[in-house]
Amino acid sequence: MIQRRSIAIVRTGNVGVAAAYALFNQRIASEIILIDLNREKAEGEAMDLMHGQLLVGNVKVRAGTYEDLKNTQVVVVTAGVGQKSQDESRLELLNRNAEVFKNIISELDKHAPNAILIIATNPVDILTYVSQNLSSREPERIIGTGTLLDTARFRSLLGRYYDVDPRSVHAYILGEHGDSEVPIWSQANIGGKPIEHNTLMGKPYDQQALNDLFEEAKNAAYKIIERKGFTNTAIGVVIARIVEGILEDEKSVIPVSVHWDGEYGISDVCMSLQSVIGIEGVKDRVTPDLNDEEIEGLENSASILQKSLSGINLD
Ligand code: NAD
Repeated sequence: MIQRRSIAIVRTGNVGVAAAYALFNQRIASEIILIDLNREKAEGEAMDLMHGQLLVGNVKVRAGTYEDLKNTQVVVVTAGVGQKSQDESRLELLNRNAEVFKNIISELDKHAPNAILIIATNPVDILTYVSQNLSSREPERIIGTGTLLDTARFRSLLGRYYDVDPRSVHAYILGEHGDSEVPIWSQANIGGKPIEHNTLMGKPYDQQALNDLFEEAKNAAYKIIERKGFTNTAIGVVIARIVEGILEDEKSVIPVSVHWDGEYGISDVCMSLQSVIGIEGVKDRVTPDLNDEEIEGLENSASILQKSLSGINLD
């Protein structure tokens, strides 16, 4: 029987630890198993979190192996190999990451065949697609974190601009988690009033200022990496949010990386779409009417991702 609220995190690097901390601190999981090549690192992280147990509540964190995962409901994959040298091409790096995923997905299929997988490793859309191809589980049970992080950054910036709670801003970034991602302005609204062409909160409509906010959201990672070397805390919270949506069978609509099956005429790629997330993974997708420019943007994302995928050896 699947133990409710048992989560595993494969690799305890910056992102894995931030995800563990968010899941622990928000008491989303009752058990968190940390798996790393460096067992001592995983043990140290587990010990450190467990010392907060008195103040947080009865969440158990421990280091483990794939053999411990038979009751795990959700597995978060954050393993990522870095660039070997400046000479290594993006595609070579991608292929090395795909090799790492072959091993991880085969272990997960063997030891946690019923778990839902959340992929966070970059390039997240490519590795979500690779994982879906490598795994025997249905594609609905493998979800990439996609543009939920970008959407969160976007809404925070819009909330600050209009001086309203970001949770009252309804705006999505869809498509690739990366340079070709698409802001869906045609649907963006605050309290039901469209952002496009309207004065809102006393601010006259200024598309240039709004485009600048989108660019800031899109390029946020570069700025953070320039300053602290990596990004981890916001993606940790994003992972915790997706896990919560699954465990609570929320059926929340979240932009995450899923397999496209003809939405807006696009197929055979993984990238972000508003998806209904519940206990079985992706339950449904929402496809509001988009304008031509937005659909072209999504087509562009898909063709960029498909080009990368065509260079990957999946055998
Ligand atoms: P990190 O270097 O701190 O951790 C990477 C982990 O991968 C380490 O635990 C390491 O042991 C493991 N690893 C390295 N080589 C391995 C191999 N050959 N086999 C198995 N495991 C191996 O990196 P990080 O900062 O935690 O980032 C992890 C990934 O998350 C990166 O791909 C990064 O780009 C990505 N990321 C994604 C988002 C997002 O929005 N999806 C945001 C931030 C970071």
